[in-house]
Amino acid sequence: MSLIRFALFFFLVYVFFKLLKRLFPKQGSESRQQTKKPSFTPGPRQVNEMVQDPVCKVYVPKKEALRLDKAGKSYYFCCRSCLDKFQETKG
Ligand SMILES: [Zn+2]
Repeated sequence: MSLIRFALFFFLVYVFFKLLKRLFPKQGSESRQQTKKPSFTPGPRQVNEMVQDPVCKVYVPKKEALRLDKAGKSYYFCCRSCLDKFQETKG
């Protein structure tokens, strides 16, 4: 075995490991790549569902409305004062 071949072999090994280091700069970062959060996809239910305020008869988006559960029924209000009014009038 000639010395040149020997040197070439070590050179190739050196380059190979250098490439490996470049491809994987940080060991243990694999788990990070797997914790990708699922992208937010709004379903049909999340599309602005409108609910009516029984006090002032105004329609408000469900996610912004104030909710009151009473006797197994859900009521939605545009604001706190409507909710209070509802509770006053209906006992
Ligand atoms: Zn209202």
